[in-house]
Amino acid sequence: MQVFKTVQALQIYLNDLRKNGQQIGFAPTMGALHSGHLSLIAASKADNACTVCSIFVNPTQFDNADDLDKYPRTTERDLELLSEAGCEVVFIPNAKEIYPENIVIRNDFDFGELDKVMEGAFREGHFAGMAQVVNRLLEIVEPNRLYMGQKDFQQLTIVRSMLKQTNSKTELVMCPIVREADGLAKSSRNVRLTPENRQKAIVLSETLRKVKERLTESSIQDLEQFALVHLNLPNFRPEYFKVVDGISLQEIESIDDADFVVACTAVWAGEIRLIDNMILKNN
Ligand code: AMP
Repeated sequence: MQVFKTVQALQIYLNDLRKNGQQIGFAPTMGALHSGHLSLIAASKADNACTVCSIFVNPTQFDNADDLDKYPRTTERDLELLSEAGCEVVFIPNAKEIYPENIVIRNDFDFGELDKVMEGAFREGHFAGMAQVVNRLLEIVEPNRLYMGQKDFQQLTIVRSMLKQTNSKTELVMCPIVREADGLAKSSRNVRLTPENRQKAIVLSETLRKVKERLTESSIQDLEQFALVHLNLPNFRPEYFKVVDGISLQEIESIDDADFVVACTAVWAGEIRLIDNMILKNN
């Protein structure tokens, strides 16, 4: 496994591969890797001769300084996991490599309503920071395919819009959510849950599942209300539970209003903010 810290060294290596006609898959991460991240590596390895994983805790996408400080950093272990997973290339830049003074990084995207709702309404500046770093990383890596998790469904939708706006040739591949045995979506932040809140955190996936089961019986409004009541455990504070059109991310009134429907939620479990989602309909 090749590990690069600089843009220049990485690009020299990747340009050689490209010259030899090799396809490149790319999975951007913030490290503290778990099997959710490794599923992106596996998906990329199935499609591409070379898989690049980046590890960069991007300061511009954190709306909360404490969350950035406390974000788990486990680089040694990450490298072991990536090596075991057969990842060919790891890119671990520092902030100066990503945001050098002499380069203007495009950040004038217009996401319409996509970045205004749900996460966008609660995490100011988060998506602008995310789009900035993903765009910069894509310019550096120039992959044939980009692998992102359904876990961050809104993020993936916004990246899809960004790829359109930049006329990118990179294909976006959505990888399913990897969950713990009890249903909790894997997340680097899960290790920060108290033992009690960790146990209770299954309420997110359980609620999503119950909503899916009741889809034909109740109105969307009643389902959202039902979910918010369910998620409101002691020490838990739901921020939103929305059933949306999976393309526009706009709320729908009836399940018949869209072909692709997703339920998305964000909940504070003590001091840790968890997100999860489930595809309710896709036809
Ligand atoms: P992060 O390191 O949290 O920025 O995540 C990097 C990538 O891994 C993103 O595309 C995430 O959507 C994806 N990812 C994170 N957790 C999971 C999971 N539980 N299942 C699938 N993909 C995930």
